[in-house]
Amino acid sequence: MIVAEQRNGIPFLDLVTPHIELEDQLVAVLRRTLSTAAFIGGPMVEDFEEAYALYCGTRYCIGVGSGTDALRFALLAVGIKEGDAVITVSNTFIATAEAISQTGAQPVFVEVNESTCNIDPQKLQEFLESECHIDVYGDLITRQGLRVKAVVPVHLFGQPADMDPILELAERYKLKVIEDACQAHGASYFSKKQGCWRKAGSMGHAAAFSFYPGKNLGACGEAGAVTTNDEDVACTIRMLRDHGQERKYYHRLVGYNGRLDALQAGFLKVKLPYLEQWNQRRRGAAQWYSDRFASDADRVRVIRELPNVSSVYHLYVVCVSDRDKLRKHLASLDIGTGIHYPVPLHLQEAYKQLGYKRGDFPVTENLASTIVSLPMGPRLRLEQQERVADAVLDLR
Ligand SMILES: *Cc1c(COP(=O)(O)O)cnc(C)c1O
Repeated sequence: MIVAEQRNGIPFLDLVTPHIELEDQLVAVLRRTLSTAAFIGGPMVEDFEEAYALYCGTRYCIGVGSGTDALRFALLAVGIKEGDAVITVSNTFIATAEAISQTGAQPVFVEVNESTCNIDPQKLQEFLESECHIDVYGDLITRQGLRVKAVVPVHLFGQPADMDPILELAERYKLKVIEDACQAHGASYFSKKQGCWRKAGSMGHAAAFSFYPGKNLGACGEAGAVTTNDEDVACTIRMLRDHGQERKYYHRLVGYNGRLDALQAGFLKVKLPYLEQWNQRRRGAAQWYSDRFASDADRVRVIRELPNVSSVYHLYVVCVSDRDKLRKHLASLDIGTGIHYPVPLHLQEAYKQLGYKRGDFPVTENLASTIVSLPMGPRLRLEQQERVADAVLDLR
């Protein structure tokens, strides 16, 4: 039996407790895998893919090696290539932009909305209308001469981006939409245009999920998936993840080794039935924090949840002007925190060749210096939340 280490502090994320609770089922997956030696591919992968597609409300789910693989394969499968530009935000984890770069395309950033931290559809529209022109072939061209082919909205912290206006702009400008749903397993968005709720991962041409252990649905190692309703995209991704093979040793494309590990698929299948309940607990905890911080709204700004979305609070983030002092204070009380993310992508050394400078995205830059992620997870207890909130509100 696994036993959690006894400690009085509050971890930023408690990954141990959920695994203790599911220990027997997880060990059974390992035993079954050892007895069949079906380590790569096979029924465990297919079972999980089927279950996850059903959960997301998409026709297909293709298991891959990581969220980054999922983004890269989805972009390649919709035809993104060298000389293309793909629009996304600077306010995200670097994998979003890395995947774009790895297709040979160039990431182009637009500003986020201050209250949701997600892509600002107004800024996207301004970029498309005033920073690009349409050439004689009907392609949308940036000032640097790149063809704008796709947009990658990131559902940051578990809150879906405002997809109605994004999808409308994408349709108008013939852009592919690849959702970065790596933080948004089970989140949903009420489309006013379609008059119905849509799950994150079912709204674009394809979507990428990460099952990195700390995500809302996490493997016990590396894993990811693409969801899509497009049969051709699904087919291409199945080849891309497996060396471009159509069948064994017949290679249609130059592909990758990016398959979903069977053991991880088995673990994910065990965890998937609990995801709804875990997300509900996260939502409850987030609501509790937000109610509590409303008493000091001038000093502690909470991230706004749009009225037509249901966030799954992968992270619970607040903005404070004395962020570093607050983090030190919480650390002194053994309360874990994080910053997601301290350096916006347009200011990262790895992306200096893109030519952006400080001041290009003031909202993003301001967020980077004021955000702090507080302890959050399905096993966070009320008594722990009270200690965190008291510590945040007591600091003067
Ligand atoms: C985690 C994450 C990724 C990458 O997922 P990996 O499985 O670590 O490759 C991409 N985008 C966002 C927004 C993420 O949070």
